[in-house]
Amino acid sequence: MDPPVPRTAIIELHDIHLTLKSDAGPVNILRGIDLTVHAGETVGIVGPSGSGKSTLMAIMAGLERPTQGSVRIAGAALETMDEDALARFRRANIGIVFQSFHLIPTMTALENVAIPLELAGDKAAFETAAARLESVGLGDRQSHYPAQLSGGEQQRVALARAVSTNPKILLADEPTGNLDGRTGDLIIELMFRLQAEQGTTMVLITHDEALAARCTHRIRIEDGRVVANSAAMEKAIAGA
Ligand code: ADP
Ligand code: MG
Repeated sequence: MDPPVPRTAIIELHDIHLTLKSDAGPVNILRGIDLTVHAGETVGIVGPSGSGKSTLMAIMAGLERPTQGSVRIAGAALETMDEDALARFRRANIGIVFQSFHLIPTMTALENVAIPLELAGDKAAFETAAARLESVGLGDRQSHYPAQLSGGEQQRVALARAVSTNPKILLADEPTGNLDGRTGDLIIELMFRLQAEQGTTMVLITHDEALAARCTHRIRIEDGRVVANSAAMEKAIAGA
């Protein structure tokens, strides 16, 4: 039998807490989350609204700092970085897709996709961006502004932008939440295709259990805690 292929941990969250102050006292949004994702895995995060899924993703992306706990992404400890270093690190390693697309309205589809490439110093940013738009089936929409595109087309632009620099990690927060079922399915097919082509690690927040079931691992968050983790169950079954 072949020896198992060594797996590289690419997202390592240890004992993550996030507590916010409010007039009514401290609010515990995340309450001790441990999570490891290995390179090339796809992880579906499910859980009720308000359970902390988006907050957890913001912490993985270095957009939010935990009150307690450590975050290592691709081996780098985010707590050691200042805001500028975090922004550079994010640009080099992480692509993010949001439910509400987050395109820049005054820029064309091509310009939106070119931004991260230009920031990364790609001399051929516009050529690369055009190829990315082509790969999501929008080669003929380069000079359209977001308002001139359908929701599904805007999300395809956002996806082309998120993967434009071949990030190691693709994070998606309910990427089909604002789309009808059929359009949402097309976006999902596209995400899994790009993920497979680039060998990207993908973390996907979704309400859709069937979609989560397509991922290599699933975790369930409730009230700021991980209440189920398919990877941990496999490990327990294997006696590891
Ligand atoms: P989910 O994505 O699972 O729906 P969120 O991570 O968006 O949940 O939010 C988790 C909880 O944290 C919710 O109760 C939400 O109201 C609260 N929350 C999130 N961000 C903030 C914030 N900036 N200030 C106060 N409360 C927040
Ligand atoms: Mg959310």
